[in-house]
Amino acid sequence: MSISHEKKMDLLVSLCKRRGFVYPDSEIYGGFANAWDFGPYGIELKNNIRDEWWMRFVKMRDDVVGIDTPIIQHPKVWEASGHLQNFSDPLVECKKCHRRFRADHLLEAKQAEPGYDKEKPIQLSDIRCPNCAGEFTDVMNFNLMLKTFIGVKEDSASVAYLRPETAAGMFTTWMNVRDTMRKKPPFGIAQVGRVFRNEITPGNFIFRLREFEQMEIEYFVHPDDAPRAFEMWLEEYKSWCTDVLKLKSDNVVYHEIDEVDRAFYSKRSIDPEYRFPFGLKELGGLANRTDWDLSRQQELSGEDLSWFDADSGTRYTPFVIEPTWGLTRSVLAVLSEHLDIDEADTAETGEKEPRMVLRFPPRLSPIKAAIFPLTKKEGMPELAKKLAADLRVQGITVEYDESGSIGKRYRRQDEIGTPWCFTIDGETMTSGTVTVRYRDSMSQERLPLADVVHFVQNHIQRNSVL
Ligand code: ATP
Repeated sequence: MSISHEKKMDLLVSLCKRRGFVYPDSEIYGGFANAWDFGPYGIELKNNIRDEWWMRFVKMRDDVVGIDTPIIQHPKVWEASGHLQNFSDPLVECKKCHRRFRADHLLEAKQAEPGYDKEKPIQLSDIRCPNCAGEFTDVMNFNLMLKTFIGVKEDSASVAYLRPETAAGMFTTWMNVRDTMRKKPPFGIAQVGRVFRNEITPGNFIFRLREFEQMEIEYFVHPDDAPRAFEMWLEEYKSWCTDVLKLKSDNVVYHEIDEVDRAFYSKRSIDPEYRFPFGLKELGGLANRTDWDLSRQQELSGEDLSWFDADSGTRYTPFVIEPTWGLTRSVLAVLSEHLDIDEADTAETGEKEPRMVLRFPPRLSPIKAAIFPLTKKEGMPELAKKLAADLRVQGITVEYDESGSIGKRYRRQDEIGTPWCFTIDGETMTSGTVTVRYRDSMSQERLPLADVVHFVQNHIQRNSVL
């Protein structure tokens, strides 16, 4: 059943709280605007996306290695990267209510209004404050870097910054990684980590946050090899969205960025965008960053970051192809894509009632299998607990539940996206079989109790991304 876009976001936010995916942060103090806690299922989902990514792009590849660098690096790193000078968004403030907005977002919203005349360029002066209809100030550049102080003194010498992206860590370690891992271009360095941006207008649940996670690869290549490497990562990106996150192709757009809108150092950029309930928005990025990053870090550090290619006898500064995935945004995309409402029989009367279900690809599901004893008697809980333990030993996330009707227990698992529920009943005691109930079709069949661990392993494997 299709859910309207307007309704979907409300459904998602309330489901996430009710079922332990994402809660408002600091709720005991009345909440802290735009900060969210990942609950027990949310963190499993996020970790599963991260682990699939790491498996696919680091462990399974010969040409990519992983690192983990600090959130607070030498401040020079950010001078070299240009973030201190240029990492800003255009800010306007309402003269009446003093709310602050991103000027580019206001323009975008205006352009998206029905009946907007594309031929007529809009000026910011044509736009009024969405909160109070007041006039805006002129545009100011607002730097998004979050600042802190290191050590006991709070002076200019102790200023440091929380990283706004993970990429810089790959540029500052490139020489160490290259030499210790005996790698030569083309090869990539990957990192997953938390980053910070003092966003002017965070919002849309976990879409735009002040702290979030990225998964990034900096892929170092000979300049002539950059176009090939770009295409290769574009294909990888597409395959990740389709085969791993299982996003419908209609919902993902690979937006080629025009030269005028690209960073000056970028030779080519594509933003993968996802159709979120609030519109088509950036999910990640892919850019040919040329030799800009290594050259800048070389300039400020004084270290030679070029590469001597012994085979051709030439020295060059590698170009960098950078695919970036927003991990936190990917969680939102996966939740949004797989949330569905269909109909199920009510447990009591057999009439139909709406069923909310998260149809996650099993490898991403926080819980892979739920185990229910039909009743709390006749040795069923003992057998069910033993089955749960057998699955856990294999590293399979399991939930044991003995409370309420079977129908209600199914419904709960549907809402957290558990693909298979196993019920131990009277027949298990006599014939040694259990019922497996499939989340998506709601169909049921019996299988030997002794086969359950294999069943789950095989089915997860069958949905494998590898
Ligand atoms: P936007 O245009 O949405 O502000 P951006 O172009 O500044 O994003 P990049 O600097 O390219 O974003 O960052 C790479 C990725 O990091 C984005 O594609 C997105 O997935 C993620 N990301 C960026 N900003 C945020 C944020 N404030 N909250 C959550 N994820 C973010």
